[in-house]
Amino acid sequence: MDRIPSAKEQKHINMFKQLGLFVHVNPEKLEGIGKGVIVALCADGDQFIDAHGHIASLCNKNVPRCIHTLALNGGALLMSNGNGSLMGDEEKEDGNVLFKHILKASKIKQVENVFLYSHYPCAVAISNRLSVLDQCLHLMDAKQRLKSTDPRFRVSCFFHVHEEEQGESKRRTYFLPKEMWENQENYMPVLHDFQAGFGSPYRS
Ligand SMILES: [Zn+2]
Repeated sequence: MDRIPSAKEQKHINMFKQLGLFVHVNPEKLEGIGKGVIVALCADGDQFIDAHGHIASLCNKNVPRCIHTLALNGGALLMSNGNGSLMGDEEKEDGNVLFKHILKASKIKQVENVFLYSHYPCAVAISNRLSVLDQCLHLMDAKQRLKSTDPRFRVSCFFHVHEEEQGESKRRTYFLPKEMWENQENYMPVLHDFQAGFGSPYRS
């Protein structure tokens, strides 16, 4: 899906940036990926050049020997077990397939580093009436699912946005810092704001 967020949605993306829930990626902080990384992201072809280009630039800085990409429509949020009421059965089935393939890739390639991606606007997220915040929470749930299955997994979460900044269309990838997302106090005020302003889910 190749369109930019609405003004309302952009306002929330900006709020995430201001709160430090979305930050620019520092490749040096992605330690330990030299051996390799498994990447799970949405197959959206309109984002391919920017999204995959960004992954390649991160990996170039860390020189991993293996970048193992798994792309399905909807990407990593499909694997979420939590906040499940908003996800359809078909998406959950796809999520189980993606989850199995990550486990399989980890065994085949002996790699425990995993990058999980979601993006906006994503047709699968929108058809499930997920807000950007819902998408991020699904990503965190997917991360938790992997880590509770095998604590050796080192999982980093990212969010790609096709957005508008000062009238210009831009594509960017943000990192979701775990210290921000693992403490509900950091995003609950945003959630309350969403719900007060737009209802839940806020898309109609
Ligand atoms: Zn998508």
